[in-house]
Amino acid sequence: MCIIVTYRCPMRCKMCNIWANPTLKEKEITPEEIKLLPNVKFINITGGEPFVREDLDKIIEICFTKASRVVISTSGWYEEKVIEIAEKFPNIGIRISIEGLAEKNDELRGRPGGFDKGLRILKKLKEMGLKDIGFGITVSNNNSADMLALYDLSLSLGMEFATAAFHNSYYFHKYDNVIDNKEEVCGNFEKLVNLQLKENHPKSWFRAYFNRGLINYIEGNKRLLPCEAGLVNFFVEPYGDIYPCNGLEEKYWMEKMGNIRETPDFQQIWNSEQAEKVRNLVRNCPKNCWMVGTASPVMKKYIQGPLIWSGTNKLRSLMGKPAVLDIKYNT
Ligand code: SF4
Repeated sequence: MCIIVTYRCPMRCKMCNIWANPTLKEKEITPEEIKLLPNVKFINITGGEPFVREDLDKIIEICFTKASRVVISTSGWYEEKVIEIAEKFPNIGIRISIEGLAEKNDELRGRPGGFDKGLRILKKLKEMGLKDIGFGITVSNNNSADMLALYDLSLSLGMEFATAAFHNSYYFHKYDNVIDNKEEVCGNFEKLVNLQLKENHPKSWFRAYFNRGLINYIEGNKRLLPCEAGLVNFFVEPYGDIYPCNGLEEKYWMEKMGNIRETPDFQQIWNSEQAEKVRNLVRNCPKNCWMVGTASPVMKKYIQGPLIWSGTNKLRSLMGKPAVLDIKYNT
């Protein structure tokens, strides 16, 4: 379950217009309404910038009654608040969005000093002993080289490193996020795939599979695995709407499954005809996007394909050969 607690945000990112479309503070989902949501395996709290919420600690407290793993995605802009939350919830996961090295990050995020803040927080969280920490990059046209530098940095700091490619969607309020220097971007993702296959941990080989999926997406191909948004995951909007994913675009289709304020019984929403209708739309969705929120659950559900691909390519890596990206093991 991904809970978008606000669309307010202090950043001014070039690849995302959430900041220009903020939610009204007094109308955002409340901790009491979050209590109505179901128990799940994993909760991602995101935004906007979740740390603008003054009641974030209450929200987290409730989330930990619903899932054993809770991860907050943040820009890292509110340094002190992140540290306060980490002190209060040492089991919390924290992912900081960093879009490149200092100059590129601050240019893309539209606020100077963001890179330094992000890095400072991560180092502090590590000193504090938090285990579930890392940073994530959204790759657009001009930061894929920096992605490799950030990957090195994540290895040296012993932190998680998540990747995404920019997408168009209602969520980002962006419709011109198109990678037009595919060769360079896919080439850098391919380097990353080969580096991750060299690592010793199987988790990194699955990350390599995920990044192979991003190359596939950027090249405009069909998703590697079916999309089951609305079945294996869902998104809760700041005003209580339940959507299958955050990748929708009105020009293709855009329907919600229900609203937790209008129907304060989640099971009723989940089992409704409308939810089933949405799942049918998902089955035929033409977007083929590949974002961690909707790719990761199906990578686990249809483990065979990712397993065969990563196993085969790990062996190739051990023999000094590059990964074969186009082996298709679709389910
Ligand atoms: S492919 Fe899946 S995740 Fe992407 S917009 Fe369609 S339903 Fe959402």
